[in-house]
Amino acid sequence: MRSKKILVVCVLSTLLASSVINTLAEDEKISPDQVSENIYMIAGKGGNVGIFIGDDGTFLVDDNFAPMTEKIVDAIKSVGGDFPKFLINTHYHGDHTGGNENFGRGGTLIFSHDTVRERLKLGSFVGAFNMKAASVAPEGLPVVTFAEGISFHLNNDSIRAIHVAEAHTDGDSFIHFENANVIHSGDIFFNGFYPFIDVNHGGSLKGTIKAVDKILAMADDNTKIIAGHGPLGDKAQLMEYRQMLGIAYERLSKLKADGKTAQEAVAARPLADLEETWGDGIFTGDRWIELIYTGV
Ligand SMILES: [Zn+2]
Repeated sequence: MRSKKILVVCVLSTLLASSVINTLAEDEKISPDQVSENIYMIAGKGGNVGIFIGDDGTFLVDDNFAPMTEKIVDAIKSVGGDFPKFLINTHYHGDHTGGNENFGRGGTLIFSHDTVRERLKLGSFVGAFNMKAASVAPEGLPVVTFAEGISFHLNNDSIRAIHVAEAHTDGDSFIHFENANVIHSGDIFFNGFYPFIDVNHGGSLKGTIKAVDKILAMADDNTKIIAGHGPLGDKAQLMEYRQMLGIAYERLSKLKADGKTAQEAVAARPLADLEETWGDGIFTGDRWIELIYTGV
């Protein structure tokens, strides 16, 4: 699938944020995809960005890599929005927070879960991608942080940011636009392929499943779901993903209970029947097991 190939390139470019900008011609514009009347998404280069425009100001969910800021702002303006008044980070990873310093310096008020601010402040290292992030300058740090959740009331909608523990990381939130019936899942949901789970920073497969269940409980058949990576999704796609995660958890936790090491678990090929559908995105099943096994 073409979208998956593009995603692989994008996620791998997390290794070298500058290569993202190299994949875009100087004058190449980003066209946001419309999700609902006033919500748009920017997909395909790093983490998916959500844009909510309206009279009270533009509200942004995640901000991709730093070199993308100008293009994101142009994209927002192309659909009638302004430089963002508010920005919320779904988690700390650099492909979702790379623009923070640029937006903070421009006057955007940044929100996140408590641990996101801490991780951005201290800098981080994600071994799976050999991705090292320097500490973020004060202007790029979230100004308002929360432990469980926070609500915004603007542009004739109520927006709830809801924290879920130990999912993709230890500081994930998903964002629910209640009236618009849109959810930005952050990286709790990779639409169509095995997800990265940052087990070295508090993520786990079990927690990811719980978080997905929480999102599913709030969604109906008309809900549009902006995944952290991959194309715009819906409840049916999130349910398929949930089912895959559940099967993987069941099989891997059994191997673990039997005392198998990660290497032995990979050798047992427990996800062979899932490979064709889920293994052609970022990770093969083998690689995915290696990465998440300690967090099962
Ligand atoms: Zn992430």
